[in-house]
Amino acid sequence: MIKFEALGLSQPVLKAIGELGFETPTPIQEKVIPILLEGKKDIVALAQTGTGKTAGFGLPLMSLVDFTAKRTQALILAPTRELCMQITQDLKNFAKHMQGANIVAVYGGASIQNQIYDLKKGAQIVVATPGRMVDIIDRKRVDLTTINYVILDEADEMLNMGFQEDLDSILSTTPDEKNTWLFSATMPDEVLRISRKYMNAPVEITVGGKNQANENIEHIYYVTHERDRYAVLKRVADYYPEIFGLVFCRTKIETQKVADSLIKDGYNADALHGDMSQAQRDHVMKRFRNRTLQMLVATDVAARGIDVNDITHVIHYNLPDEIENYTHRSGRTARAGKTGISIAIINTRDEGKIRTLERITKKKFSRALIPSGYEICEKQLFWLVQRVHDTQVNEESIASYLPKVYDELKDLSREEIIKRLVSIEFNRFLDYYKNATDLNANASGSGERAERKGFVRLFVSLGSMDDLNRQTMKEYLTQTSGMDESVIPWVDVKNSFSFIEVKTEVYEAFINAFKNVEFKGRPVRIESRGNREEGIPRDRNRGKSRFGGDGGGERRSFGSNNGGFKSRRRGSGDYSGGSSSGSSRDNDRGGFRRDKKSTGGGYKGKKKFSGGGSW
Ligand code: AMP
Repeated sequence: MIKFEALGLSQPVLKAIGELGFETPTPIQEKVIPILLEGKKDIVALAQTGTGKTAGFGLPLMSLVDFTAKRTQALILAPTRELCMQITQDLKNFAKHMQGANIVAVYGGASIQNQIYDLKKGAQIVVATPGRMVDIIDRKRVDLTTINYVILDEADEMLNMGFQEDLDSILSTTPDEKNTWLFSATMPDEVLRISRKYMNAPVEITVGGKNQANENIEHIYYVTHERDRYAVLKRVADYYPEIFGLVFCRTKIETQKVADSLIKDGYNADALHGDMSQAQRDHVMKRFRNRTLQMLVATDVAARGIDVNDITHVIHYNLPDEIENYTHRSGRTARAGKTGISIAIINTRDEGKIRTLERITKKKFSRALIPSGYEICEKQLFWLVQRVHDTQVNEESIASYLPKVYDELKDLSREEIIKRLVSIEFNRFLDYYKNATDLNANASGSGERAERKGFVRLFVSLGSMDDLNRQTMKEYLTQTSGMDESVIPWVDVKNSFSFIEVKTEVYEAFINAFKNVEFKGRPVRIESRGNREEGIPRDRNRGKSRFGGDGGGERRSFGSNNGGFKSRRRGSGDYSGGSSSGSSRDNDRGGFRRDKKSTGGGYKGKKKFSGGGSW
């Protein structure tokens, strides 16, 4: 593996990056650093955020800029204030051991006077947003005639945000003989135009393919009905208890609405959009950055330049209007060599868009099934157990209380204590999800659950009108078939019938076990709904009434007389029978710690959002 030392960086720079903990260069750094260090070429580099591109251009700059002189030698343009601040901080870190380095950030939403004052002290490197830079140039407070290097970072984003004119105006004030380094995650025509207009035979460098999403991102999508979109989002949050995620919405109103609903439902979430004041946005970003906020709900524009590491999931609450925004959004996860998951929640009409995305990003998108209530409960239970297992005990502080605690619990066995301990929190999920319905819509929009490999869907002629719920139905089916619960991982109880999934290898035996079985005097009918991929046929007599059945023969009655299944109810609320009320159940839940909600403010959206292809 190539080392930083081999790339030709100077000693003070190597020392600084050593202190930052960088051990080996990232692929983009390996490619661009040697070229940029020559200080002679223009480059166009296709790189996502999170690939280490800031160090890719920042480290060579440390060697190329003369920090003994005061004149401005490098100008870095970036789309957002957040990115500007991040780049400036990174450069300051790289320049830690360079004498006389002065790196100044100028961006909107902060005092221009202070920035002008900082520039006056002689900044060798200026990091700017285009709008503010134009202001400062107009006021003649910066001299760009001495510039040797212009770096356009996230060029596609700058153009998307409508900074085309500003870029033209800034670039036209810089000398012709400078070098221009352009970094962009995607290469739309507008970026090509900039490179043709302002660059001299640029070297093209690509990490991954053009417009190609980061290799470490897994792309999945859930297909649901429009009405269930929000319920699916909550399932995702519950299924990934350790989620640290960004949720993208298409509009400011939708962003605020989703964030408000999540907060109301007890999730640790907040909004980020252009109707909030700069102070509010800074506050939210600060909480997200230091991870006191678990889910940030944002618009595409507001989330530009979010450079938070370790985001585990990017959730597309809706697919973006502009195709390219998908890449920008998902690129917020899987930064710095980490892995991440990008989840799109779509309705049946949007499946074509997924195919388009596959074509453009050259990545495979897999359809995943929206986690069932059972799966979520299981996941939450084991997460809880893991936390109990790994929790740090503060021996000193707790010691004096323990004798009394032991005394209080002395009548309980180890097993009882474990059960009760995990139940304290787990009951909430169990209770919430006990009648949760299936939220998957199938491709044709009929609302049926998609086929799952290794399982066959069966129709069961019993439902909530037989006083059965998901749990009691499962108990009844396992007891009658004599099979283990794991054979039936999924049960969806409707009013007069139910659908279940049974492992393929036992499905025939399972159906046979219900031949001639009655439930409260009525024959039970179970039929295969088949699995096309596995060549398992559908039973023919679909559509018969639930009272149909095969008729004739001796019926085995199941009920009070044979010590078998009884519709069980417990006062504690563990089982409550009754009907399943559909996705509206997913509306309330005591969940993560709630944080104070942000309210709207006076931020005026910068410029019209344009560029990029539509679907
Ligand atoms: P960037 O794409 O420039 O936003 O960088 C993403 C993250 O990766 C930042 O937190 C950097 O500090 C970190 N990073 C950049 N280069 C390296 C490297 N060679 N080794 C380890 N971390 C790095």
